[in-house]
Amino acid sequence: MKLPIVAIIGRPNVGKSTLVNRLAKRQESIVFDQPGITRDRTYRHCYWGDRDFQVVDTGGLLFHDDTEFLPLIREQALLALRESSAAIFLVDGQTGPTPGDLEIAQWLHQQSIPVVLAVNKCESPDQGLIQAAQFWELGLGEPYAISSIHGSGTGDLLDALIPHLPVVEDSEESTETKIAIVGRPNVGKSSLLNAFLGENRAIVSPISGTTRDAIDTVVEHEGKTYRLVDTAGIRRKKNVEYGPEFFGINRAFKAIRRSDVVLLVIDALDGVTEQDQKLADRIAEEGRACVIVVNKWDRVEKDTYTILHYEQQVRDRLYFIDWSEMIFVSALTGQRVPKILKLVDNAVSEHQRRVSTAIVNEVLQEAISWHTPPTNRQGKQGKIYYGTQVSIQPPSFSIFVNDPKRLGENYRRYIEKQIRQQLGFTGTPIRLFWRGKK
Ligand code: GDP
Ligand code: GDP
Repeated sequence: MKLPIVAIIGRPNVGKSTLVNRLAKRQESIVFDQPGITRDRTYRHCYWGDRDFQVVDTGGLLFHDDTEFLPLIREQALLALRESSAAIFLVDGQTGPTPGDLEIAQWLHQQSIPVVLAVNKCESPDQGLIQAAQFWELGLGEPYAISSIHGSGTGDLLDALIPHLPVVEDSEESTETKIAIVGRPNVGKSSLLNAFLGENRAIVSPISGTTRDAIDTVVEHEGKTYRLVDTAGIRRKKNVEYGPEFFGINRAFKAIRRSDVVLLVIDALDGVTEQDQKLADRIAEEGRACVIVVNKWDRVEKDTYTILHYEQQVRDRLYFIDWSEMIFVSALTGQRVPKILKLVDNAVSEHQRRVSTAIVNEVLQEAISWHTPPTNRQGKQGKIYYGTQVSIQPPSFSIFVNDPKRLGENYRRYIEKQIRQQLGFTGTPIRLFWRGKK
């Protein structure tokens, strides 16, 4: 379940981390360690009434300073804002509005996000309101007088904030893993589906969607729920109306888009065809996790090297999803079919994994130490300043550099390879965004 995020924005020392602690206080006991979610920005779980959300302290926002990292700090705040539903702009009631506050206010005006203005350090009941009133001039609506230390005023602040947060739908749907089974006709998709259904408990089968066309089947396996996307499409019998070229690629594309992870089914006898490549290309493009399932393995004559050779051949032809795990199965005999869901689970958790900024930068530093970025013809050297993971599904990273062009394509590919090698992410595509200095 993805909770809405509230970003806390403000100059250093206005009391942002005190406020975060205050808002998250009652949650402390049930905040548990979610492995893989640690990163530089700390997200804390909060609730108010029956609404749950997360707050994130964006770090002190400054517009004038002599640090070289200033644009990066701002970039960080921007990234935090981008994934947030609303922001609390925190100011210091004891100092009154400062030029720094005005700049942040102007900057926030340009962002399309609801902002609630909170004036902190207003402990004194009579002075607090006067202190808060000075901040009307920021043009961000009513200033709410609060004291993060005492907790006063935070109720009114949260009342003002909550209407801006989206209501999270039923958590049940989002805990299921959506699986698309795609492949050419006759590779064994419906046989695989039947093998799954035979082996697992179909809890609701089938579930009709809005149209008769979109029928999914939901199965349960070891306490987890899997939704097999568009089982009607998988089951549909080959039709004489369609020529041999037709294999429902648009239907497959739709299923890929609706899925978390795709089972790309290949016929062991035919090997990888151009149609398989088209599907693989789309899977990578859509950023979906993937498991390559080589079916009809019972029909292949084997010796000790067969699997290795075969795997290499498939990988060569499907190089754009070479991060996928591959499994050799027989839907007919059931050989290794139960293992498919284990690979699905792995791929899904990698698809959602977060790596802390500290680790990303360790990997970058290490990569740079082995190979310094190239120098272009004008003698200017490429520079990597810093990197951070900005999202999941698929894991995506922003890498801040002086000029992406100066690094050159080969070097950028080298960095991507290093990230893969050091951080894993087996089963999922990853994305790198190269950000140059403006
Ligand atoms: P941040 O840099 O914005 O995260 O600010 P901190 O939360 O670290 O707070 C900066 C200073 O302001 C600390 O000395 C806090 O004790 C103080 N502070 C924070 N909230 C309040 C408050 O509500 N009232 C008063 N009087 N001081 C506060
Ligand atoms: P779909 O068009 O991809 O759904 O493929 P089907 O599941 O209808 O299978 C096509 C044909 O391949 C059928 O005759 C199946 O019996 C056969 N088949 C499917 N899986 C296997 C397998 O693992 N081994 C063998 N030998 N035949 C299979």
